[in-house]
Amino acid sequence: AAAVITALTPGKPPHIVPVRLDRWQYDVTIGTDLLRHAGRLLAPVLPQRRVVIVTDETVAALHLPRLLEGLTGGLTGDLAGDPAESPIRTDVIVIGAGEASKTLAEYERVTNRLLELGVERGTTVIALGGGVVGDLAGFAAATTLRGLPFVQIPTTLLSQVDSSVGGKTGINTPFGKNLLGAFHQPIAVLADTATLSSLPVRELRAGYAEIVKAGLIGDAALFEWCEANGQAVLAGDAGAQAEAIRLACLFKARVVGDDEREEKKSNGRALLNLGHTFGHALEAELGYDGRLLHGEAVSIGLGLAFMTSVRMGFCHQTDLDRLMAHLQRLGMPTRIADLNASFSADRLIAHMQHDKKMRDGRLSFVLARGIGQAFTCRDVSRDTIHDILLMEGC
Ligand code: NAD
Ligand code: MG
Repeated sequence: AAAVITALTPGKPPHIVPVRLDRWQYDVTIGTDLLRHAGRLLAPVLPQRRVVIVTDETVAALHLPRLLEGLTGGLTGDLAGDPAESPIRTDVIVIGAGEASKTLAEYERVTNRLLELGVERGTTVIALGGGVVGDLAGFAAATTLRGLPFVQIPTTLLSQVDSSVGGKTGINTPFGKNLLGAFHQPIAVLADTATLSSLPVRELRAGYAEIVKAGLIGDAALFEWCEANGQAVLAGDAGAQAEAIRLACLFKARVVGDDEREEKKSNGRALLNLGHTFGHALEAELGYDGRLLHGEAVSIGLGLAFMTSVRMGFCHQTDLDRLMAHLQRLGMPTRIADLNASFSADRLIAHMQHDKKMRDGRLSFVLARGIGQAFTCRDVSRDTIHDILLMEGC
């Protein structure tokens, strides 16, 4: 791993992870300072030299100028675009930062603005921001004129390792999160590790949980890599971050390539929900007001999924211990007690039943036979989950 990290120090060429689907393929390009080279990186895939950037107010202040520079020129020498080409016409739509923007009202505002700008079928929507911007802009792109080309430029660790790859887009409704949406695959993803330098460490840790999750599901070597390099990722080492993103995207690309639309009942994309049934229940109880980030809920949920796996006799205690030790060493939340809130086991289980639909008193969960060996278990009893939540102090 050390050799790989040296090879990735700033200035080195970016990594490319291809995502291959049945009727579509695109590259995830991972490296440092990609925004400034966005014009050159995207030119081969843009159907028209015209883009509309959707971003949030926080990211606009921090990173939009560099992207605009990268798209519209300002570069000379090898990195400049072909001088014979016309400049890329660029418009910008700014939304409010945070989950509160993933609404029908904000979707309407963004799509109205796109239409007002007179976008054409070949105009590309670029999402510059975290998963909120990616999901909202992606859904606007999926539906405006029945589908505009879409580029993801994720700026949070969570969006670089998870939400920007796979084509799920959407918004929240009063009935629940992500209930209106579409599959809309991007034509390119640019993950620029330089953008992570402005990300609060709490957000960095939240994204890191999804990397650990990928290892736990099906890539024991990735988990081992995390044990050796996780500290560097969270400390802001760009080389370690690029490698973590590469490994997580390789993993997600493999899963998504195998089950693009989450049609497989047990394996495939459903496994990406490891830790999420517990996590969503905690999120539903704490509301979505920033007290508990999604990745923090997932971090705790991963531990709970492994505890369930151990208790049901699928998984050895040593794997649970190893997971807990790793998360704790990096300051990740692992226990419900870390949250300084009181929860009722019954209420949490009610959320899980709502989330997954219980059948005959049995719940469906993603569990593990060990690190890197997740599977879907449709036969988890309510009592088992109840016991675990009681042991966790609920
Ligand atoms: P986010 O987009 O809200 O970003 C978190 C915060 O960080 C925001 O306040 C944002 O303004 C700020 N920010 C973003 N980039 C920054 C930077 N470089 N420097 C400083 N601040 C920055 O949240 P997120 O965690 O990126 O994504 C969460 C969303 O992603 C949720 O809505 C979730 O449902 C969705 N999601 C979607 C998928 C998918 O497959 N589509 C997968 C996982 C999560
Ligand atoms: Mg998640």
